[in-house]
Amino acid sequence: MHRGERVTTRRRLVLLGGGHSHLPVITAARHWQDTVEVTLVSPDVLTAYSGMVPGVIAGHYQARECLIDIGRLAGRSGARFIPTAAVGLDPAKKTISLGNGTVLSYDIVSIDVGATPRATPALAGAIERGHCGDMTIAPCKPFPMLMDRLDRFIGDHGARPRPVDLCVVGAGLAGIEVALALAFRVRAHADARVRLLCGDARLMPSAPPAIGAVLERACADHGVVLVRNTRIESAEPGTLIAVDGRRIRADLALIATGAGAPAWLEHSGLALDAQGFIAVEPTLASASHPSVFATGDCASMLQHPRPKAGVYAVRQGPPLAANLRRALAGEAPHPFTPQREALALAALGPRSAVAIRNGLILGGPASRGYLGNTLSDALAQRLWRWKDRIDRAFVERFS
Ligand SMILES: Cc1cc2nc3c(=O)[nH]c(=O)nc-3n(C[C@H](O)[C@H](O)[C@H](O)COP(=O)(O)OP(=O)(O)OC[C@H]3O[C@@H](n4cnc5c(N)ncnc54)[C@H](O)[C@@H]3O)c2cc1C
Repeated sequence: MHRGERVTTRRRLVLLGGGHSHLPVITAARHWQDTVEVTLVSPDVLTAYSGMVPGVIAGHYQARECLIDIGRLAGRSGARFIPTAAVGLDPAKKTISLGNGTVLSYDIVSIDVGATPRATPALAGAIERGHCGDMTIAPCKPFPMLMDRLDRFIGDHGARPRPVDLCVVGAGLAGIEVALALAFRVRAHADARVRLLCGDARLMPSAPPAIGAVLERACADHGVVLVRNTRIESAEPGTLIAVDGRRIRADLALIATGAGAPAWLEHSGLALDAQGFIAVEPTLASASHPSVFATGDCASMLQHPRPKAGVYAVRQGPPLAANLRRALAGEAPHPFTPQREALALAALGPRSAVAIRNGLILGGPASRGYLGNTLSDALAQRLWRWKDRIDRAFVERFS
């Protein structure tokens, strides 16, 4: 060592993924620079705020309005940004294998890489390729891939034989919002049909029936045809094939089948839940390896199971930042209890929304019975403006 050279004793924190929980961690890292060397790894330098994605599909927002530049955010905090994906983790050796062929060592790693679309291997292959014959196939996440494929499809739209069949596969809240957004986007094209393929007999079967009924009414109002009891398992050129053998013609298939665990976790040696998501303690640390933390859709809180939703990932951010700081300082992390219920503001296609919480739904067709059509529409528009303010404020906070 030369005279005057500083001995670096900085601890190494690696953040995998620029998901919702990591945004406040990257911001907080600005104050840790003296003692912590932070590296952020993500294949996408732009991360999307999911709440605004249906608004982008509908045409209410430009894509850039829902994007956060995590490379720049990292730079402002003195963190290194590596634009590639993690493909493997060895928690015994404390190393991560990256898609660019290199290996990173860490003292503490935090994983917030989201989920992948749930699909059979046959359908997953078609999603990966992006098409099956003339049919364009796009997963709803990652967002840059969705927009790229959707924009190309819309660009080719004029050349397609009529009518044009647009299908959304999966009818959870995200699938419903995407189908309504798509119907709004193509509302001027009488020859475009939007169908929502629902695996069950009704929408949102695990929620109180009134919620599904209101959302079904919203679909009917906005020209989305619901195809019930239809689980898609594979694709042939121009056609989606259901488990029972039914064939559904499609020019575009948007896949919103819910969250599946990233495949590379399987061989990581980390404790996983039955679905393959990382099992975490109330501290957000791995149930098997205390130097690994995980949040968002890729993690399952064993003691506090919650649905896979961005709102829970967002809420985990501040306690995750505090616990990473403690773990890096050699202190014990603190337990965190997530909220039991979360408010969901779901967009209906036009600039209107419904609010869902604690088994109740408000706005849109839900309020017509007691408010009448005019007041009910005004309420739905007001809920949209509220959602718009919340969503824009989130993106601005990190921009
Ligand atoms: C259309 C749509 C609308 C939605 N609307 C809502 C809503 O209104 N409210 C709500 O609560 N939820 C909503 N959701 C669900 C929500 O998107 C997810 O629950 C949320 O994004 C999960 O956040 P996350 O932090 O787990 O990771 P994500 O937001 O999925 O981010 C993961 C990040 O990790 C990166 N990454 C992926 N793999 C790797 C890897 N191997 N190595 C390194 N980096 C990697 C990705 O590039 C990305 O930047 C919606 C989902 C969709 C599809």
